[in-house]
Amino acid sequence: MNTLHAIANQFAHTVTAITPLGNGLINDTYLVETPSSRFVLQRINCTVFPAPEQIMANLDTLNRHIAQKDGASVKLQIPEILKTLDNSSLYRDQSSNCWRALRFIGHTESKEAISTDGDAEQAGFALGRFHRLLSDLDPQLLHDTLPGFHIAPGYLKHYHQVMQQSDLPTDRYCAEFIVLFQHIVDDLESAKQQGLLSLRVIHGDPKLNNFLFDKHTHKIVSIIDLDTVKPGLVHYDIGDCLRSCCHSTGPVEFDLAICAALLKSYLTEADAFFTEHDYHYLYPAIRLIPFELGIRFYTDYLEGNRYFKVTEPEQNLQRAIGQFRLCASIMTQESAIKGLISQLQNNVKPTKTPARNCRE
Ligand code: ADP
Ligand code: MG
Repeated sequence: MNTLHAIANQFAHTVTAITPLGNGLINDTYLVETPSSRFVLQRINCTVFPAPEQIMANLDTLNRHIAQKDGASVKLQIPEILKTLDNSSLYRDQSSNCWRALRFIGHTESKEAISTDGDAEQAGFALGRFHRLLSDLDPQLLHDTLPGFHIAPGYLKHYHQVMQQSDLPTDRYCAEFIVLFQHIVDDLESAKQQGLLSLRVIHGDPKLNNFLFDKHTHKIVSIIDLDTVKPGLVHYDIGDCLRSCCHSTGPVEFDLAICAALLKSYLTEADAFFTEHDYHYLYPAIRLIPFELGIRFYTDYLEGNRYFKVTEPEQNLQRAIGQFRLCASIMTQESAIKGLISQLQNNVKPTKTPARNCRE
């Protein structure tokens, strides 16, 4: 704690307490108390993010963009950067670890699983509001902190290279599932290349535990963990958010009721900038993201678990099987999911008008 105190003192003269905060898997996060306030202190994981300066520049760009909008209508807080006493956004300690401080969003909690339809509605609202607030920010102003992230054809190519060299026995279910459905990996990238889907600002990791719920109202008031924000397709975020929120286990199934609640509130927000093509590519995105993650888990298993942390050697194989089963459940429900999307599209906007930006 002495070292931690010395680090916290880079951001505040007097520190009264430091306690671990949350259960994030990437950064080390602490709550720091001073006589007058509280703030979040985080050590950025520089193995995952080799350019922390770019992450901070992206966060600053986001905060400035949202600060221009009418405060009362924003309804979603982004943690503000707190500088060191000598006015830097980052502090590098003697071991070259990178530290930052963020404003603490109080009276909130993060959740690990959806427990009510209300939670799903809130997640959809928050992701949609986030995309909408940033829909008029030029994505090219942001650094790409994770090149290749969500480029599914790239993951498939890497899988083929690894598969040929791995000493581990092939898992028949995974290998056959990949062969059967590998034709879907280009769905989003080719739509992007044809200009049907455009680059926008994405969160990159919109899992449920990166939304902060107000403890009393149970409404989401903040979206955090903005290290993966970058130019991309909002479809990656939607697919990923639905993948994580609609994955019911025992047996693995894609929960259509949660999907309906989440998409409905997402589209109420996103319709402000969504085009016909954006609607059209929702189903391909919902199907692709679990397939892509399955390929990544299975490849990592074949490579000896280099990227995803494991507590036992076959954990990434089991994770891959779980994602492929989820993908299979999505494909079984294809007509119901597509029916839901067109119903929501018609309800949200009976007559489609040209896309417009959020100018709140
Ligand atoms: P990781 O990348 O490790 O997931 P996060 O930025 O998501 O790190 O932070 C981990 C946890 O710390 C969050 O799930 C949340 O509970 C808490 N947390 C992080 N930032 C804040 C903040 N600004 N205000 C309140 N709680 C926060
Ligand atoms: Mg997190």
